[in-house]
Formats: sequence, structure tokens, C-alpha cells
Amino acid sequence: MWDLLLKNAHVVDPLNHVNEVCDVAIENGKIAEVGKDLQGKAEEVIDFTGLVLQPGIIDSHVHLGRMWGSPYGPKMLAMNGVTTALDMAGPLEDVLDSVPEYGVGINMAILQFASPPFTFKTNAPSKEEMETLIDKSLKDGALGVKLLGGHYPLKPDVSSLLVRTALEKRAYVAWHAGTSEHGSNIEGMIEAVAMADGYPLHLAHINAYCRGAIKPCMEETAIAIDLLKKNPNIFCESYVSPKNGTRLTCDAEGKIQSKVTGNCLRHFGFSEDRDGVRKALLAGKAFVVFDAGGYSDLMTGEKALKMWEEADSDVGGSFNINPPLPRIELAQARRDDGSFVVDAISTDGGCIPRNVILSQGLSLVKLDILTLPEFVQKTSLNPARMLRLENKGHLSVGADADITVYDYATQKPMASFIEGRKILWNGELVSKGATVICTKHGKEAIEKRGMKAIVVDPGKQIERIPAL
Ligand SMILES: [Zn+2]
Repeated sequence: MWDLLLKNAHVVDPLNHVNEVCDVAIENGKIAEVGKDLQGKAEEVIDFTGLVLQPGIIDSHVHLGRMWGSPYGPKMLAMNGVTTALDMAGPLEDVLDSVPEYGVGINMAILQFASPPFTFKTNAPSKEEMETLIDKSLKDGALGVKLLGGHYPLKPDVSSLLVRTALEKRAYVAWHAGTSEHGSNIEGMIEAVAMADGYPLHLAHINAYCRGAIKPCMEETAIAIDLLKKNPNIFCESYVSPKNGTRLTCDAEGKIQSKVTGNCLRHFGFSEDRDGVRKALLAGKAFVVFDAGGYSDLMTGEKALKMWEEADSDVGGSFNINPPLPRIELAQARRDDGSFVVDAISTDGGCIPRNVILSQGLSLVKLDILTLPEFVQKTSLNPARMLRLENKGHLSVGADADITVYDYATQKPMASFIEGRKILWNGELVSKGATVICTKHGKEAIEKRGMKAIVVDPGKQIERIPAL
């Protein structure tokens, strides 16, 4: 007797070469069987005729910390069919503290930001300061650390030392390219790849370095692809939304604090200060992220300006800064061995309103840029491997029963399950809490908070698999 039998969906599981209408049986939170017309009995039988069923969507770049928008990140992800997310900045405490009230049962891995002026005092912390931050973050339940170089840069050699120090600790390390020398652009990307010096690194949102800041955007895209092909130690994602996520904070002198915001203002012809933000908001070019009552949304114009002024400029923001063609090229580019140059499709969403893996990512399939199995590989199998989650990203017998079901025509999620438990059901979120993907050092802290921990070893080597 199975717990759950999901019938008649178009099941797409690239690792097991399944791409047809069949049934999925679940028992004790694991996949029990996948096949045509399964005849066994089940506690509950659900008919998914006409819908696509894939291993749970894993968004490998999101933000859950309320400083980036709101505490509704988990909810906004789950409403869009995501079952597992990699948070790319924390703050760790804030993300974990929000779970009892705002958790909706999804899996999350959290990278603590290693950034001045927040977790480092200066842009040149000592190795000892780095070790202290990494040890504490892992012990508190982080999977690793994130360099927010594009926004809050460190010096280049310091960034390089931080990557190596994190790897010595077997922590996950991701970098939003940029240092005190180079910005969040193709030059910053070239520098970050050089600074990684052959060591494994998750380089965040490749599309962000191909916005045409230095050269025409398609030239930058070609450089980025070539660089990634030559440096297979770099694992990465690229997102599909035109919108970015940043902060609109100005310092006491009225200068913009985030370098990314500065780039965006410059791109649209505004000055990189308080006056520039004011004008960009009035011109409909800059957006503020605001709490729309249970989810966050974007606003521009006079009302947004008022909100920004009332918050003394300290709010999350967004610009429509990503041109379309680089996003498409980065989604489809292959290596000589057939594997993807950019491992995963992400959103940089979460509490920033652009959780568009289905609503925009599936368009890549409709445009013949990816096949449906390739889409699944980039939204589940590959990111599972990046997170060293051996039991996720596929529907092998014994794998975790994490599943996303959607309507291909409307690109809308219809249901999701994590370890056989309903998460999104009848348009509502029906679960609570969170499972946290952490290292062995953080298991105790996570369990103390009453959450389930999945322990992985980010120091473990991963092999890329060809497009399936
Ligand atoms: Zn991000």
C-alpha cells in the first residue's frame, strides 16, 4: 500500500530518461515506483491528466532576508512551484528567525553574506576574521558564504583569500562578481574567474555581467561563455527575468551605497546619488520593493518616491536592466562534452518579485531553445547536484519525493510536494516550517530551532553531466 499515487501526468525525469505520460507512487516520502498504469493500492490517488510532473524545482539563486524585500520569500517561491531554494545573502539569523511565522515547508540552503559594512568591518578583513565568520555561519546553519562583490566589494586579493578560506572549511562559496577594482560587469567576471584560480566556485547570475556595461551585450555574452568553457571549476546560474534586485540606500553624503544601483542609474542616464534615484523613480525606471500584504511587489512613480523618502532611502529596489538576448544565449550554450555552460536557470527572486522559472523559463521550451527534459535538468537536476543533494533532482526509486506539477500551456504551477507532503495544493500553501540544507556543523543549531536538517558536504567534488 503506497501513501500516494500520482496518475496520468506527463512525467519528465531526465536522469532516468523518462519523458512520457505515466504514474508516480510515493511511500514514506520517497519515490516508490514510476511507470505506466501502476496498479498498486494507495492511501490517496491524485489524477494529474494533462499536466507536467517533474522533480521539484530548485531555484539556485534567491533572497529570503527581509532586507532584500520582505519576509515572504518562502511563500512567494512556493506559490511559483519551487520546492528547494539557495538563499544567496542571508542574513542567516533573519532568514531562520522568519521560519516559524513565514515558513511554508520548503527546503532552503542559506549562504551568509561576507560583506562590508555588514559582516566585515572593512573591505580588507584578515584571514582570522574570515575564519571566524565562516565557522560561526556554518555552526549556525549556513551552507556557506556569499561574496556580494558587485554591491559591497572587497579588495581582489582579499576576495581570493576568502574563496580559498571557505573551501578549506568545506563551506559552499558563491560570488556576485565585483571587487574594489572591478564592478559587477564582464571585467568583474573575468577577474573573479582569475581569482578563483581553478578552485570550485559558484559564480552568481552570469547574465548580470552581460548587460552591455563595457561592450555590446552579445559580445560580453560570448566572452562569458568562452571563459566558462575554459574554467569548468566555475559552477553558475543565469536568470530569465529582465529585472534585477538591489538596494536604493544612500549614505549620509547622499551617494548610492550599492555599486549595482550605481551602474543601473548610470545606464538609464541618472546620477549615482539621491537625486538620481529620485529622478529614476519619477521616470518609471527605478522600482521599490514593497510589502503588498502577504507578498512583495514592485512600485514606481510618485508613490514609490514617497515610500523611498519615508524609509530614508533604505529600501530594496529593482531595475529592468537585463537585455533579452544574453539571457537566451546563456540558457542554451553548451560545452564540447554536451553539458550546459551555465548549469542552472535561477531567478534571483524569493522576496524580490520575479519568481519566474515557470512563467518565463518555460517560454524557452516553447521557443525551442531548450527541450522539456533540458529545462528540467537546469531547474532541478543540475542545481540539486550543485547543492550536493544526491536524493533530489530526479525521480529514481528511493529518491526524495519532491515534485512540481504544472500546466505547460499556462506556465502555472498546479501542485507541489516535498518528501511526499503537499506544499502547494488547490492554489494554497498547506505546509509550515522549513527543512534546512546545511553542513554537519549546523545540524544541531537547526534541529534546536525545531527544523529538519539535511546535511551535505559542499567540499565534495561534482561532475557535470551532459544535457540529457
Ligand atoms: Zn542575488
